[in-house]
Parts: sequence; C-alpha cells; structure tokens
Amino acid sequence: MILLALLFALQEGSQVFLTEEEALQIVFPREEKVLRREVTLDSSTHAAVENRLKRRVETTHRLFVAARDGEAVGFAMIAEEVTKTLTMTFLVGVDPKGRVIDVAVLEHKEKIGADCAKRKFLDQLRGKTVNDPLRRKKDMVHVVGATMSCDAVMRGTRKALAVVREYCLDRPQNVRAILQEEPVVQQRYVMGSLLTITAYGPKSAVNRAFEEAKRWDGILSDYKEESDLSRLNRDGKLESPELARFLGECRKVSDLSGGAFDVTVGPLVRSWGFRDGRHRVPSSAEIESALRRVGSNRVILENGRIRLAEGTLLDPGAIGKGWAVDRTVDALRKDGIASAFVDFGSTVYALGAPPGKEGWTVAVRDPFRKERTLGQLTLRHASLSTSGAYEKFFEVDGRRFCHILDPRTGRPVEGVASVSVLARTGTESDALSTAIFVAGPDLAAKAKVDSLWVSADPKAELRMTDGWRKIWRKE
Ligand code: AMP
Ligand code: MG
Repeated sequence: MILLALLFALQEGSQVFLTEEEALQIVFPREEKVLRREVTLDSSTHAAVENRLKRRVETTHRLFVAARDGEAVGFAMIAEEVTKTLTMTFLVGVDPKGRVIDVAVLEHKEKIGADCAKRKFLDQLRGKTVNDPLRRKKDMVHVVGATMSCDAVMRGTRKALAVVREYCLDRPQNVRAILQEEPVVQQRYVMGSLLTITAYGPKSAVNRAFEEAKRWDGILSDYKEESDLSRLNRDGKLESPELARFLGECRKVSDLSGGAFDVTVGPLVRSWGFRDGRHRVPSSAEIESALRRVGSNRVILENGRIRLAEGTLLDPGAIGKGWAVDRTVDALRKDGIASAFVDFGSTVYALGAPPGKEGWTVAVRDPFRKERTLGQLTLRHASLSTSGAYEKFFEVDGRRFCHILDPRTGRPVEGVASVSVLARTGTESDALSTAIFVAGPDLAAKAKVDSLWVSADPKAELRMTDGWRKIWRKE
C-alpha cells in the first residue's frame, strides 16, 4: 500500500527538498533549542484565525518555539497546502514581532510548480506580517509556470502568520506553558563555588534566586571583608538578625552532635593552615591554645545582637553553602517554582521533580576515584551533601591530614574518606555531613537523617542507614 503510494508520488514528480530538521536550521540558524508541539486551537482562537484569513483552516497545527534562556525568540509552523490536487509542505518561521523570518519548502508533490521553492520567490516573504495581504502580482512576483504553487505558499504563509499571531503573540500564556516544559539552566560563581540552578519556570525567577544566594554570600562570607561574618570576627560584636538566625541553627547542630560540628573552629582551621592553604602541623601547645578559643557557647545571641567571646573566630565552611541552598530554594518557591534542582557542588537540593519524573537523580562520587561514582539516588523535596577528605588535605610522612577537624581534639579527622547525608534541608545535610564525618556514622540515627559513611582504609567499608539502603542504586 505504502509502496504503491510512493510509486504514485514518484510518477507525479514529487520532490523532497528538505527534512524538517534542515528546514528548522534555515528559519532558526542560531537557535539551539527548538521545542515542538502539536497544538489544537480552542474555539475562540480558531475563530480569530479564520476571521483574519477569511477562510476555513484546520484546528490542529504543528508549531515550533525557539527558546533562549527560557524565553521565546522565534516561532515556526508547518503549513500544508493543496497546489492543484496534491499537497506541498513548508515551514514558516516568524519572529516575536510577527514578521516572517523565512520560509523553507520541505516537499512538493505535484509534477509542476516545484520552482516555487526557489529563493528568488521565497525571499519576498521575509518581513511580511499577518496584515500584508500577499496578493499575486501586486505584492509578490510569481515564478513563471508555478503560479498555483506560489499561491499555495502565500496562503500557507498567511495561515502560519495568523496562527502565530493569535496563538502565540496575542495569547502569551500558551507560549509560557510550552516553555515551562523545558528547564532553564543557569550558573554563577557564589561563595567561591559554582552554583547551578535548573528550574522549570521563568528565567527572571532563577535570577532572583541567584540574587538571594549572592546576598547571603555578602552576609556569611569568610573572605569578603565587609560581610557581616567578617565584621563580627573583627569586632567581636554585631547587630545582624539574619546572621543571628544562621548562628542559632549552627548552635542546634553543635548541641545535637555533642560538639562534633562547631562553627567556632576558625582558630583551629587557621592553625592547620587550611584557611590560607599554607598547610602545616601545629605544635601541641598551639593546638591547645587554639582549642581554648573554640566552643559553641562562645557565641552569645540576644535577639538580633551577637557577641563573641575573646579570640573566637567563626568559620562558616561546613554549613554556609547548605544554608545558601535553602535560601535559594525559598526564593524559587516564593516565585511559584515547583520543580528545580539547586546544585552547589557538595550540597544539592531537589525541589519537587522534573515533569513526569519521580524525582531528580543525583550521583555520589567515589572518594577514591575522582571520575567514578559509588551509586545514585533519586531525590524529591530533599537535600544531599557530601563531606570528603579528598576536598582539601595535605600529607606528611605518608599521613593524611584533611580539612575536617575534630573540635574536641583539635586535630584532623582520620580514617574517613567521605560522608553523604540526605536531609530535608540543605542546612541540615551540609552541617550533618561534617558532623557525622567527625562523630561517626551512629550520629545519623540520633539526627534522624539517612547517610552513607565510607572509611578511608583500603577496604573502603561502606556504612549506610536503612533508609539510605532502600533508595540507593549501587553503581
Ligand atoms: P564540609 O566540606 O561541609 O564538611 O566543610 C568543611 C569545612 O568546614 C572545612 O574546610 C572548615 O572550614 C570547616 N570545618 C572543619 N571542621 C569543622 C567542624 N568540626 N565543624 C564545623 N566546621 C568545620
Ligand atoms: Mg558540611
């Protein structure tokens, strides 16, 4: 049957000029992302299209939206028109102002008239709008011997212009719905790390979320001299309700972990050279002296006022990114975004799930082999953080000293390769991955989180909570 139809078409002189892909390249030469949809016009949109064209047209159309940064930068429609007795197929590209970008002919079935596909004719259509009547001889010069086919191209072009005008330009909610099916992906450097947001929603909301992350960088930064945290470290006191709220959370994790996590580790981090990268093993006396300046009770919070005991230095390294992830997610939620993935490297948060999926899939890195992963999890409304000995460390006589310090001994934790924690918020997962790194895997149950603990010995023992095992897909 198909073969017969093909034979018939061949006899009739059917010509295929371009594939759909090639035609899209012609109308959207620079756009990488083109979304395809078959749309059915509702009765009022359909009536508006027919009213513009003063003729009957189909209700279902094949539309394309070229998207850049979550916004529509072009539209296109496949038009099929009868030339004499057979149909020809072409693609009409339309810009956001409703002007023809270009027309490309895909297929012409009739034996005569295929010359309508010549550029000399099609070029005349560029810039035309739905208000241009496109009359033969008056507005357009036809190709000799291809009059009926040229008429068909003009009819179809006007149809595409009318559909794009009514469906896309005058009813932008239709375009928004199409665009929202594709995520916006943006990256910025915040807190010295790459922050990537993937969100189903407008780019403007993603921008606002980045602003919020940067604002918190301005509050929590240990390196920006004018941040609230730096000023507090310098002056020993500060009024900052937002920093106070953050420090209140730090205190909770310190209490829960019996001091394994402590935001006041600043003096120890400096003694071991992890702040400026000039790594060294301090003397016992030096460690003792630094330890005297460490302790969660050295931060005194009175409403929005903060005081530090003499010599206290805050280090937000173990929790700041997780906190910033949560504030970024708050901003996205406030803008009505229900599906996004916030990736801050060592801490990620899965907001909802991508359309039609169960959740966002994340991989946990193999702490011994950089390019490998240990396994995967699918997350939804949850955060995952990993603390790894591989992130910052130095070696002396074959002994490895990593950047996570035990505030009870004043020394780097040994014997642990990495700890990953799954929690409801980025703040919890970040702070607790560090805390469990220090205190050991049993802290997970007490903190009511799931975790994966990996030992640093050659056997690389894995210890995971039951909840983790249930959703874990080993590599
Ligand atoms: P993370 O990669 O989240 O585990 O954070 C590690 C960073 O937190 C280190 O580079 C230090 O700046 C800081 N830090 C080290 N040990 C501790 C600790 N026991 N409690 C809180 N912060 C710490
Ligand atoms: Mg952490």
